[in-house]
Amino acid sequence: MLNKVVIANRGEIALRILRACRELGIKTVAVHSTADADLMHVRLADEAVCIGPAPSTQSYLSGHAIISAAEVTNAEGIHPGYGFLAENADFAEQVEKSGFTFIGPSADVIRIMGDKVAAIEAMQKAGVPTVPGSNGPLTEDTSRSLKIASEIGYPVIIKAAAGGGGRGMRVVESDTDLISSIALTQAEAKAAFGDDTVYLEKFLGNPRHVEIQVLADGQGQAIHLGDRDCSLQRRHQKVIEEAPAPLIPDDIRAEVAKACTQACIEIGYSGAGTFEFLYEDGGFFFIEMNTRVQVEHPVSEMITGVDIVKEQLLIASGNKLSLTQDDIQFTGHAIECRINAEDPDSFMPSPGLIKHFHAPGGNGVRVDSHIYSGYSVPPHYDSLIAKVITYGPDRDTALIRMSNALDELVIDGIKSNTALHQRLVRDTEFRCGGVNIHYLEHKLAAEEK
Ligand code: ADP
Repeated sequence: MLNKVVIANRGEIALRILRACRELGIKTVAVHSTADADLMHVRLADEAVCIGPAPSTQSYLSGHAIISAAEVTNAEGIHPGYGFLAENADFAEQVEKSGFTFIGPSADVIRIMGDKVAAIEAMQKAGVPTVPGSNGPLTEDTSRSLKIASEIGYPVIIKAAAGGGGRGMRVVESDTDLISSIALTQAEAKAAFGDDTVYLEKFLGNPRHVEIQVLADGQGQAIHLGDRDCSLQRRHQKVIEEAPAPLIPDDIRAEVAKACTQACIEIGYSGAGTFEFLYEDGGFFFIEMNTRVQVEHPVSEMITGVDIVKEQLLIASGNKLSLTQDDIQFTGHAIECRINAEDPDSFMPSPGLIKHFHAPGGNGVRVDSHIYSGYSVPPHYDSLIAKVITYGPDRDTALIRMSNALDELVIDGIKSNTALHQRLVRDTEFRCGGVNIHYLEHKLAAEEK
């Protein structure tokens, strides 16, 4: 077992990793910026190292500073959490070259999955269903691009191979705009990602976002922890997630999950990962793989009883998976609301002093949060301040518990999106289950009128 781990992140996920380390008897090193000395996990960690000033480019994104912290504290492993350097293949490589264990898959696997064209190719080889598309980059040959698009059928979407965070994509409705749109997306991709490789795929009109959580040990064993529905999104940011995804036939669910575990074995995946799909008309279409723990991992933990972060640490320590697929029993339903420090109407960030914080509780309620009364939310980072997760034997119970939990939640001093969540969990259509990825934005637009 790893003896000591650097937690290369902040906020709720840093605390989540610290808790898992403690359960396993692993010592912890918190690394933090000057703006984050008051974070809860910094107080609780065995050691803490300040790695730089507030801007994340000089602290949480400084691989050099983080590796130096591991050196001076004699740590063995580095857990990147999500965001920041979690999917940076060069960082993972540097960590390993410096003699530490990167808690995640190998740099090579991260690199392949970070290139969407390569990732889609790997998925097709492994039998994971993908969106009908160009099967590789578009070339200078404009007649070839026009031919591909007309074969697939408009609308199509042009995507940057190196894209991420919802950037580097353009929808094209007809062949009159195709060639100019390809050139524009290439230019934007070059400027944003330093790589102008683009590809093309069918644009799905009303899909849901459904993803599969996997765990693999890199030693020939892989399992899945079922699916999650993350269709409630605003500007490609997930707002509410749930597990399992409602209203999907069990045979379709099982088939895609099995293909994902098979893909893990074929690509030599190790650690926790997520296969993201668009789901439309009963079909799953792979869009990308996240090679890290995700914000919404708790809903899968609630319905399976598996601690995903502990599994990450066990796998990175060199252990084989102790669980087989048959050990995983899916029971009940779980929902997560992401509580952000933001204005509920304008969505502008609302950092500042939390005068009073009261977390909800009771049967089936879990709150993953680093905030406390007297904590000041710094303006420099992501606005996620808490995740409220509820579990119930069925979806309706999980929803009622969420509504009650949100009523109990008190965050005084700053604004939060709690009221938006309360409206959503009481929304008639959302309560029926299965809304698509446009539902939230359409609802918000309708409310504005
Ligand atoms: P990123 O890595 O930037 O998050 P993704 O490939 O995951 O990019 O796509 C982000 C979002 O863009 C998806 O969640 C979906 O809303 C939309 N999208 C991507 N590809 C398609 C497609 N083929 N059809 C319809 N929407 C798409």
